Amino acid sequence: MMNKKLTETRLKEMSDLELIRRAKQFCRKYEVRDGADFELKKAVTKPPKDFSKEDLPLVKEALEQGKSALSKLQEVLYAQDKWSLLVIFQAMDAAGKDSSIKHVLSGINPQGCQVTSFKAPNSEELDHDFLWRCNKALPERGRIGIFNRSYYEEVLVVRIHPEFLEKQKLPQSLITEHIWEERLEDIRHYEKYLNRNGTKVLKIFLNVSKEVQKKRFIERIEEKEKNWKFNSGDIEERKHWEEYMSAYQEAIRATSTLDSPWYVIPADNKSYARIAVASAIIKALDEMKLKLPKLSNSEQEKLQDYKKILLEEK
Ligand code: ATP
Ligand code: MG
Repeated sequence: MMNKKLTETRLKEMSDLELIRRAKQFCRKYEVRDGADFELKKAVTKPPKDFSKEDLPLVKEALEQGKSALSKLQEVLYAQDKWSLLVIFQAMDAAGKDSSIKHVLSGINPQGCQVTSFKAPNSEELDHDFLWRCNKALPERGRIGIFNRSYYEEVLVVRIHPEFLEKQKLPQSLITEHIWEERLEDIRHYEKYLNRNGTKVLKIFLNVSKEVQKKRFIERIEEKEKNWKFNSGDIEERKHWEEYMSAYQEAIRATSTLDSPWYVIPADNKSYARIAVASAIIKALDEMKLKLPKLSNSEQEKLQDYKKILLEEK
């Protein structure tokens, strides 16, 4: 893991630039920018072998540092007010979407960030095209938008449960055997469009194994304070595991691009997954080459005039 190098240089002594460099390097192995040959079966769900429990304090420290770097980048994003970042979280149940979002974003200014969760569509949403509700929730310039599930559900749960497609009120002639391929193409074009308009799209798949999902469901039953998270519907969805994996693989293959990569992050260990998520967001912000707005010479001079006025105030 990164730990060996990290212990050499104490994290606290690391400059932001060095931290950003390491974050970029760390998440690279989970990045998919060209999905043509992507195979989900080959993607790991566990952290690397040399990652052990003793690494956890270091990982916590790394996450704190990562959060601080993230917060600084986000302030520049906000001040520059040109780009925005959309981070999409997709995963099977109990993969840790909610807790990753909570932990990774806990350090940043809430005014510059908005989280939207997408559940089964309501009747107003069903009266529109499938991107409509997501489009309404896009982040404004200068902000980070988080989607907890997204339009990708349209090629995942909807593909696996045809009754959802039936509810969508599409003209019959448009529902052909090509519909999933067409939706994936629409998504790819939509993300390209967003990127061309200054919204960078980053997609995160928290890759949890079927065994760890089972373990987490059992914990939800056994531990009283986790009972509220238990949802009997999740057990039903688990039966479709293989179908979901193949739908995810197809989605990742069709929509991984240079501008809008997927990160397929091992999620069997939550602490490790959070570091990888933070690193991917840091990388995306860094790639925007953000800069604080610069004042012109005359604007700088005006500032000096204002300072004089303030100092001469009686
Ligand atoms: P958690 O269980 O951690 O609270 P969640 O994201 O699983 O979070 P739920 O309320 O349990 O939230 O589930 C939302 C459900 O809505 C998911 O099963 C998802 O597949 C479904 N959903 C999302 N978008 C669509 C869609 N476009 N069509 C049909 N179902 C959808
Ligand atoms: Mg759920």
